[in-house]
Amino acid sequence: METLRSKAIQNLSINPFEIKVEAVGKITSFFGENVFTLQTAREFLSDEAYKSLKGSIKGNKKIDRTVANQIATGMRAWAESKGVTHYTHWFQPLTGTTAEKHDSFFTLKTDGSALEEFDGAALIQQEPDASSFPSGGLRATFEARGYTGWDPSSPAFIMEIGQGKTLCIPTIFVSYTGESLDYKAPLIKALESLNKSAVDVCNYFDKNVTKVTPTLGWEQEYFVIDEALANARPDLIQCGRTVYGASPAKGQQLEDHYFGSIPERTYAFMRDFENESYKLGIPLRTRHNEVAPSQFECAPIYEDVNLAVDHNILLMDIMDRVARRHRLKVLLHEKPFAGINGSGKHNNWSLATDTGVNLLAPGKTPKTNLMFLTFFVNSIKAVNDYAEVLRASIASAGNDHRLGANEAPPAIISVFIGEYLAKVLNDIETRVGEKFDEQDEAILKLDLHRSIPELLLDNTDRNRTSPFAFTGNKFEFRAVGSAANCANAMIALNTIMAETLKTFKKDVDALIEKGDKKEIAIMHIIQKYIVESKKVLFEGDGYSEEWHQEAERRGLPNMRTTPLALDAMVTEKTKQLFESNDVYTHAELEARHEIELEKYIKKVQIEARVMGDLAINHIIPASIGYQNKLIENIKGLKETGLPESTYASQKQILKEISEHIQVVYSKVHDMVEARKVANNIADTRARAFAYCSDVKEPFFDGIRYHVDKLEQLVSDAYWTLPKYREMLLLK
Ligand code: ADP
Ligand code: MG
Repeated sequence: METLRSKAIQNLSINPFEIKVEAVGKITSFFGENVFTLQTAREFLSDEAYKSLKGSIKGNKKIDRTVANQIATGMRAWAESKGVTHYTHWFQPLTGTTAEKHDSFFTLKTDGSALEEFDGAALIQQEPDASSFPSGGLRATFEARGYTGWDPSSPAFIMEIGQGKTLCIPTIFVSYTGESLDYKAPLIKALESLNKSAVDVCNYFDKNVTKVTPTLGWEQEYFVIDEALANARPDLIQCGRTVYGASPAKGQQLEDHYFGSIPERTYAFMRDFENESYKLGIPLRTRHNEVAPSQFECAPIYEDVNLAVDHNILLMDIMDRVARRHRLKVLLHEKPFAGINGSGKHNNWSLATDTGVNLLAPGKTPKTNLMFLTFFVNSIKAVNDYAEVLRASIASAGNDHRLGANEAPPAIISVFIGEYLAKVLNDIETRVGEKFDEQDEAILKLDLHRSIPELLLDNTDRNRTSPFAFTGNKFEFRAVGSAANCANAMIALNTIMAETLKTFKKDVDALIEKGDKKEIAIMHIIQKYIVESKKVLFEGDGYSEEWHQEAERRGLPNMRTTPLALDAMVTEKTKQLFESNDVYTHAELEARHEIELEKYIKKVQIEARVMGDLAINHIIPASIGYQNKLIENIKGLKETGLPESTYASQKQILKEISEHIQVVYSKVHDMVEARKVANNIADTRARAFAYCSDVKEPFFDGIRYHVDKLEQLVSDAYWTLPKYREMLLLK
């Protein structure tokens, strides 16, 4: 019997598909050629328009209507010179992907004459008919309007893969009444809040600092498999992960894939998507194999957070489109295959001043080291005080397979800082109670100065199990899911940092008012913060059982599932945090909570349905087919008069298959019933909990266990779904 599976495998060996990727020469010769950079703007805009655009990028200055018209005209001229006919506002709704609605420059005037047009109004604001995007009830259905608004700090670009050439304008997406409905609007607000608090604290050390911008360098992990094999797996197509599949004999135990040479076909794909990314100004830097077979990673040079977020979401889109050209399928899901490593998206994060200083890099002088220590300790304190907010920001059905399972990193948020800095903090802490005097201060500065620079040479971070690790000149937030929009994590991280720095300033100023010298006051508060946030520091193995017990003793939250983790979004403390930093109103947070719960419910619901469908329409029929073959064989042997011992094994296999089929069928049936009960729960939070604890937990692994047993019992010739070894090892 020919199946999609057998066809896919045959095609792979007869005609391995490979497209040639042209050599492109120096990357600098085409980097950013499809971006309306300031350099391009210089060429296409009047002086006035150029200055205004530049001002709005650098200093968040408003652009007025007439200048907007000029900018729009310049953008269109540039885009048309590259063969573009359409434009779109490009935004990031809470569905997790990007959204576009294309309009042509072409228009008809009232007198019937045709012309191409793109004015300031069209650049600045649009009203897409976007009533189906999730709003968590923020837009009543009678007022479904949502607006997109231009974000000049992220440059316009031309997307030319797949569907013609389109000028894309990065925008925010807000409701008619101003509530944000996307990831970008709150991110920009969080960055503003961080900027204010961080500049204030910087000014203790350097009055010249007027702007602080968080930086982000993400590392994107992903799997790539043959498209035809993927298409033969309804679960991969609909859920992005395999809901069934027995572990192959050869998984990742040899670790021979890790940093090994990249398979030729994947290599062509990589070069192709990298070239497309370069044209769009995404500064990709590294590519390599990851631990699991068919798993890879790429990472760019870090950028300002807002731009880095746009570039990551754009890259995910590009990868998906370019993969099609290569008849490959990119899997961005956090856990496409059970039993082998999942995928994450490490968020390397730091803070940069407009004077060119990385605030999380140890300085060259004692004074700059005190500034480093201030920001370093405030980061730890922020994570300590708001661990649950960070945890909520990365919660998703997909990420539960990493965080809630026995896999890197754990759901417990802790901070790894390495032994040198642990010692520095410890030294400072042991002076608690003693009063700092001038001499102490000098010694401490010297200590810091002596011990910190070694870090840079040593780069102590070998702890791969920490969700939040200091890596020499930045923190690495490792618990972010591979499919996530980094914005969510960055909104949380930058807001908690903004809040903590604000408090720090208040605390220091209070001591200064009481008569402490500035630097002594700073040291005192640093010391206080170290004591207060000590419990979040952990240097050991984050996967270990001991850590789970230890964390519990320390009172650190361990939220294993998404519905549980999301509760932190709507506590009084969280509402207060986001409101006082002007990032989210209470209503916005409640809406987002609702949306995240809905997303979770839908994801689990789809997976449950797919599991049922595959069990009934693929697994059981294949198993019965083979059973019939066995029955025929047993009957035949019996007829020839041979003793029962000659077909005892066949009978045993037959019996086992029957038993597994019975369990699979009855569990699928019970799962459907559990779903019906869950679906009738009106309250969204309660429904999400029911999906987690009454649908997913009691059934998913249980059904899977028996299906995977069947895969190992049933003749390969009858099995319709591509197996793990095929998807992971065939190229
Ligand atoms: P590794 O030793 O882990 O390869 P790298 O320094 O190369 O570390 O950085 C990994 C990621 O961290 C890259 O995406 C890089 O751009 C990013 N990164 C480096 N410095 C910073 C910084 N100051 N802020 C944000 N991200 C950074
Ligand atoms: Mg890393």
